[in-house]
Amino acid sequence: MAEINVQQKIRIGSRGSSLALVQIDEILSLLAEKGVRISEERYTYQTGGDRDKVTPLTQNVADDFFTDALDAALIRGEIDIAVHSAKDLPQILREDLCIWALTKSLDETDVFVGKMPLSELPSGAKVGTSSLIRQNEIKKFNPRVHVCDIRGTIQERLDLVEQGKVDGIIVATVALRRLGLTRYIREIMPWEAAPLQGQLAVVGRRKDFRWHQLFALIDVRKSFGKVYLVGAGPGDPELITVKGVKILKEADCVFYDYLAHQNLLDYARKAEKIYVGKRKGSQVMPQPELNKLLRQKAMAGKIVVRLKGGDPLVFGRGADEITYLRSYHVDVQVIPGLSSATAIPSSLNIPLTARGLSSSVAFLSGHLAADDEEGSHVSAEQEGKMSTEIMKIPKADTVVFLMGLTRLASIVDSLREAGWSQDSLIMVVSKGTRADEEIVSGRLGDIAKKVEEKGLKPPALIVAGPTIQFLKKEALKKERILYTGTNPEKYTSFGEIVHFPMIEIKPAYLEKGVVDRLTARLHEYQAIIFTSRFAVKYFFEILTHEHWPVFSLRSTDFIVIGKDTAQALAVYDFEPLILAEIETGEGLFQKILQEYDVKGKRILFPRSSLPNPYLKNELTKWGASVDELAVYQNIKPEKRNMPEGRIDKILFTSPSTVKNFLRDYDIIPPIWEILSKGPVTRRCLQEAGYESFSLIEG
Ligand code: SAH
Repeated sequence: MAEINVQQKIRIGSRGSSLALVQIDEILSLLAEKGVRISEERYTYQTGGDRDKVTPLTQNVADDFFTDALDAALIRGEIDIAVHSAKDLPQILREDLCIWALTKSLDETDVFVGKMPLSELPSGAKVGTSSLIRQNEIKKFNPRVHVCDIRGTIQERLDLVEQGKVDGIIVATVALRRLGLTRYIREIMPWEAAPLQGQLAVVGRRKDFRWHQLFALIDVRKSFGKVYLVGAGPGDPELITVKGVKILKEADCVFYDYLAHQNLLDYARKAEKIYVGKRKGSQVMPQPELNKLLRQKAMAGKIVVRLKGGDPLVFGRGADEITYLRSYHVDVQVIPGLSSATAIPSSLNIPLTARGLSSSVAFLSGHLAADDEEGSHVSAEQEGKMSTEIMKIPKADTVVFLMGLTRLASIVDSLREAGWSQDSLIMVVSKGTRADEEIVSGRLGDIAKKVEEKGLKPPALIVAGPTIQFLKKEALKKERILYTGTNPEKYTSFGEIVHFPMIEIKPAYLEKGVVDRLTARLHEYQAIIFTSRFAVKYFFEILTHEHWPVFSLRSTDFIVIGKDTAQALAVYDFEPLILAEIETGEGLFQKILQEYDVKGKRILFPRSSLPNPYLKNELTKWGASVDELAVYQNIKPEKRNMPEGRIDKILFTSPSTVKNFLRDYDIIPPIWEILSKGPVTRRCLQEAGYESFSLIEG
């Protein structure tokens, strides 16, 4: 690495402790590793925290307790940079100052120093620490001990143990390492220490950007990825934002919970997917652990998505995640979502506000803070343990409760208490906007009974107010369709598509001789026929792989079946001369006879490896010379378990999907309605003995 000498002297400020001075050495050696040598002058300052060694930090000390004098020296221009333990920095820096570099942590952990391990200390033993986080962790770890506030330099704190004034102390492992005092380490504690522990911060004046480039060399933030809190919408996977989908596609890592729809996860093709919410009795990942994972992935440079139901910041613990990640200087961006609170009523044609009926709305959490399982990001509704306490209902014409199902009876009582009449309209929507949505509507007097009879399951939304009169009586139910083909996006308008492909498309293996002959003689063909988009894709892949000049097919006639095939061709900037809308071999043949003189023409027909002699035979009869070429294979995927949940219909779009399905599962369950696309698929179903189906056009 090139050696860079920074000519100008840098005036570096720090606190006066030996630890502070070692920290400057650490910064200099990090720079040296990057080939940068600087000449420096050191200045030490006493901060508020150095002068006042009595006030416990657990009390509200000033945010800049450990930086005030250094901040002031920077502002006065006495020093150029200040080196701090990053965790000493105030939450928000003064506007004219900025962090030029944040270094990597040498060690994030806390350590216990004492005569015996912390877990073995007897009742009443004294353990000293200066921070609130540590106090809480110590109490959880060994509730018998007495926690006391201590202050002072590392050496002063170690002396307290030596002199027997306390039985042990908790300090940062990194401090002992920096000072060469690791012999004092009794045990490394398993808890997560304060944010930024072990990291150093180089702070300077915002306007001195000459330092920006220099310290960027040792700034870990440069290699950080980013965390996106993405709102997934209320349930229907089509109700996510365009931006949300875009980021899912780019994500390296997706954290999702029980509210996330499988179709959304399918967008995140290349991402590692991590489940964090409860399903079927499996455990919830505690919020602190989730926070830590989010941060670690982002710090490792990943694009991280935390997919959250509805809008990320509506009763979603999103604020906790933002605060936590910010404390580690990890970038967080929120991608808003449609909140279930407004989108579900909306999807049922129910306005939350309506002229003359309702001019105000309140959104409430149906359970009380005390019901919330500590540290959980999954609503207590999932847990089913709820108090029956009456809650205060704010004055509003319409009230929407989230996380309220298991407390419905108490919610009704609370509304009565707030002056709502027994006849007031109220409804409960379970799994709103999803295919298995269920709605119960009624009056305050009877809703609890009705909901119990129907056995509604969470997640559920409760809405009370006069606008419920807009509820469509037959709220549309979305069909769940098992789709066996390869292009699920195309059929979303038919219902909720459960993608269960029964074919798998792969390029065919072509021997070198075959490819050479093809490319040598391609110009001899007057026409090329494509009967599927895959034929187009794999045919052109062969040519581009061979660096064959695709544009020179300009004068060739393309004859295709179906719009999808034409679209695939458009990718290569070609338009078909003939496009058969009836998507069968017969349909295409009729169209060719009407519009194209085949006599004496040489025609190439790239197709799948399944032989289908019809088209070649017919065209040959009319005087064409047809060469077939298998460019892709259409194979049966391995047998899988059927997807879970209700299925209303099954959709087949090609004969091979029918054959492969029957090969694996023997029959099509009689309660499913069968949809088929195209006459060939239909014929194949008929031959297998299935008559009851509706024909759809794609
Ligand atoms: N951030 C989410 C709410 C998280 S709290 C949002 O904006 O929608 C979880 C609660 O949201 C559930 O207990 C339930 O009250 C409500 N909820 C979420 N999805 C729902 C759905 N599909 N149907 C009914 N209620 C839903």
